[in-house]
Amino acid sequence: MSGTPESKVAIVTGAGRGIGAAIAQRLAADGHLVAVLDLRTEDTEATVDAIREAGGDAIGLGADVANTADANEAVSRVALELGPPTVLVNNAGILRDNLLFKLTDDDWDSVIDVHLRGAFVMSRAVQTHQVAARWGRIVNLSSTSALGNRGQANYAAAKAGIQGFTKTLAIELGPFGVTVNAIAPGFIATEMLRGTAERLGLTLDTFLAEAATTIPVRRTGTPDDIAAAAAFFASDEASFVSGQVLYVAGGPKA
Ligand code: NAP
Repeated sequence: MSGTPESKVAIVTGAGRGIGAAIAQRLAADGHLVAVLDLRTEDTEATVDAIREAGGDAIGLGADVANTADANEAVSRVALELGPPTVLVNNAGILRDNLLFKLTDDDWDSVIDVHLRGAFVMSRAVQTHQVAARWGRIVNLSSTSALGNRGQANYAAAKAGIQGFTKTLAIELGPFGVTVNAIAPGFIATEMLRGTAERLGLTLDTFLAEAATTIPVRRTGTPDDIAAAAAFFASDEASFVSGQVLYVAGGPKA
């Protein structure tokens, strides 16, 4: 792998598509060597190809972030193939929406496992390299749903949990030059919202158009809007910003 002496090695989870893919491409454009992680290696190919076509360096990795062995092995592989990872973006996520009385144990466990357990096991594995380097950046994906959203008790609990997790890691890892911040996106046009739209009996386009009328800037967000915030948190110049939750939602609230 090439890169410059200043290049950092970044892992972006759930980067096969959507917000994660945009963050991976942005970090690569900013000069990072990027490990594109998603559930299956084949899901990472489009993002890896896009990065390489733009002149960046990336590898693709298949791993389930909710599985400790998978997460540890993925981080070890990145360290071997690209170098010690010092930037981690915990972006992988799923939705299993339902009203509380219909929410199953599996709906609860799978959402908590991917978002919260996934961020925990990935951060624990990566911090070893960050502490050794005395430099690091962790960016966690929260959501405006952390403030409460009908039909998302599991997801809202996970995304609120991410905020407490972020602030605690900021305190623990700050002495080692590692900052930890969260981004809480509002409505971002990705495949993730297709299921939500269908549950409401709407097409994704109609759902997004209706949502836009309620957002102060009168549009829904794009994955690049989130990638810009992630690039700031990952940068050297953000070294005095830690434990923060940045709502990127076109207005002050969901
Ligand atoms: P997306 O398009 O569904 O992409 C999520 C990616 O994560 C998918 O490629 C998915 O793979 C992968 N993934 C799921 N479970 C995984 C696991 N256990 N291990 C590794 N990868 C896994 O979602 P998105 O809209 O880009 O959302 C990205 C993040 O932003 C999520 O954390 C989400 O909660 C958050 N967010 C999104 C919005 C929004 O409006 N879109 C708003 C607020 C917050 P599969 O395709 O195989 O499932």
